[in-house]
Amino acid sequence: MNVPHCIFCRIARHEAPAYILCEDAHSLAFMDINPASPGHALVIAREHAVNIFDVSAPALAAVMATVQRVALAVNAAFLPDGLSIIQSNGPGAAQSVLHFHMHVLPRSFEDGLPINWLLRPGERRAIEAAADRIRAAL
Ligand code: AMP
Ligand code: ZN
Repeated sequence: MNVPHCIFCRIARHEAPAYILCEDAHSLAFMDINPASPGHALVIAREHAVNIFDVSAPALAAVMATVQRVALAVNAAFLPDGLSIIQSNGPGAAQSVLHFHMHVLPRSFEDGLPINWLLRPGERRAIEAAADRIRAAL
């Protein structure tokens, strides 16, 4: 399904401008128009899904294969210190475009992007309790 006014559906239909990198039946890669670092690219599902909770399994598989293809190319082209793959769901995760997408984000030691966290050991019982809650929902 395509949503007429969704900007990423419009890019997938070639109705809105984008620096497209590659595309296939289920996925599309293009440059992020507000790059957090040089080479910042997005990979979207061609179908309109809002986020990880409703994207179809075939679209997700195609997106992941394209993410790897684009990540290899970005890595070869920009030789970054590292590369983060980021995908946000919902307002608490600051998802701003409500069409499923993954960020391919080259990183540098100096970029200071506020997406890393310090490793602090968790409390074992709290981790086990969280695992129990998730297993019960699987
Ligand atoms: P998120 O905040 O994870 O939903 O990411 C949405 C991303 O889409 C942001 O990094 C935006 O810069 C990017 N974006 C929004 N509109 C466009 C557009 N028309 N073309 C390319 N990137 C876009
Ligand atoms: Zn859409």
